[in-house]
Amino acid sequence: MTNFSEQLARYADLIVTTGINVKKGQTVVLSIGVDQVELAHLIVKSAYLHGAKEVLVKWQDDKITRLFIENTTDLTTIRPSVILENDEIVAEKASRISVVSSNPAAFAGVDSQRIKARQQAVMKARQKVMQATQNNDLSWTVVAAASPEWAKVVFPALSAEAAQEKLWQAIFNSVRLDAKEPNQAWEQHNDFLAQKAAWLNQYQFDALHYQAPGTDLVIGLPKNHLWEGAGAVNSQGQSFMPNMPTEEVFTAPDAKRVDGFIRATKPLSYAGTIIEGMTFQFKAGEIISFTAEAGEAVLKDLIQTDEGAKRIGEVALVPHSSPISQSDLIFFNTLFDENASNHLAIGAAYSFSIKGGTEMSEAELMANGLNRSQVHVDFMVGSAEMSIDGILENGERMPIFRNGEWAN
Ligand code: ZN
Ligand code: ZN
Repeated sequence: MTNFSEQLARYADLIVTTGINVKKGQTVVLSIGVDQVELAHLIVKSAYLHGAKEVLVKWQDDKITRLFIENTTDLTTIRPSVILENDEIVAEKASRISVVSSNPAAFAGVDSQRIKARQQAVMKARQKVMQATQNNDLSWTVVAAASPEWAKVVFPALSAEAAQEKLWQAIFNSVRLDAKEPNQAWEQHNDFLAQKAAWLNQYQFDALHYQAPGTDLVIGLPKNHLWEGAGAVNSQGQSFMPNMPTEEVFTAPDAKRVDGFIRATKPLSYAGTIIEGMTFQFKAGEIISFTAEAGEAVLKDLIQTDEGAKRIGEVALVPHSSPISQSDLIFFNTLFDENASNHLAIGAAYSFSIKGGTEMSEAELMANGLNRSQVHVDFMVGSAEMSIDGILENGERMPIFRNGEWAN
C-alpha cells in the first residue's frame, strides 16, 4: 500500500465534501471505530479545512459495548448527559458522519434478549436524532472503513493484513475514489439515479410486482409517493450524500398493501449476527410467516421489536450489474450489500418518501401508508432472475426491471 495514506486522505475529503457537504461554522459529529484513528484524524482535519466550527468525535468500540451488554446490571438506563448531547446535536442541526467498520459478528453468541433490550433503550434515547436524520433536518452520511476483523469475515482465506488491504481497495472502488475527480464522478452518478427516479415519479405506479425464483410479491405504493436517487437535500436547502457507496433509487411502500412471498438473496448482518436464507410471507402488508436457515431467533426478535417491524418501509431498486454486485463479494454489511441488490426494509419508512411527508405527524404518515417503527433494516431480494412490473391504477403493466436490470 504505497500510496495508501494519500488514498485515505482523498477519501476523508470526499466524505467531508460530497458526503456531508460541510458549511462554514457548522458542528460536525463523527462516529467512528477505535480501529480507525488515522481516518478519523484525516476527516477532522478536512472538516476544519472546509470551515467546520467544531468536530465532535464519538469513538465506537464493539468490544467495550459487548462487555457492557454481557455484564451490566442495568441494560436500559441511558445517562441524561447522553440524551442531552443528542438533543443538542438536533438543535444545532450538526452534520453527522458515521464511519462503519464493525466486525459483522462482533456480538455473535451474546444473549439476543440482552442485545435487544439495550438496542431499544439506545434507540429510544436517540429518537430525536434518528427522526431529524430520517427527515433530513440535518446533513448526514454513512461510509465504511476496513477493520481487520471485518476484512477477515469478507476474505476468510487471506492473511489479516492482505484481507484488510483488499477490503480497503473494495471500499475505495465502490466510492469511485479511483476517478480522476471523485466529486465530479459522484455528480454524474447522482444525475443518472435522479433520472431513473424522475421516470418512476412521472408514472406514479399504484403497485410493483416482483417475480423471481422463490418470489411472487405485489407491493402497493402510496399515493404521492416520491422515488429518490442518491443525493439528498436538507431542510436548509444544502445537498448531501446520505450513503457512500449508493446505487439505489427508492421510495416507501404502502405498509398495508403487500401480498405474496419473497426470498432474500443475500445474508443479513443484524445485531452482530449473520442471518441467512430468509423467506417471508406477507398478507395485507404484514409479515405473517418467515423462515431463516441461520439466525432465525435474531430475525424473530427483529420482527417483534414493535408493530411496525412486522411491515416494510422501503422499496429500493438496484441493477444486478452494479459495481458492488459485480465484485461478487458479500460484505456482511448493509451499506455495501444493499447497493448490490434490489432490497426492502423491515420497519420505518422515510417521511420524505411521500409529498409533504416531512411536515406530517406520525399519525398522518401512518394514515398515508408510511410505516412507523423504531427499526429500519434492509434485506436483499434482487438477483439476475428478477423481473419487476409497474402496475398503473388502471391495471396496465410496464416493465421496470428485466433479468435484474433496468428495463428502459
Ligand atoms: Zn435502501
Ligand atoms: Zn434502507
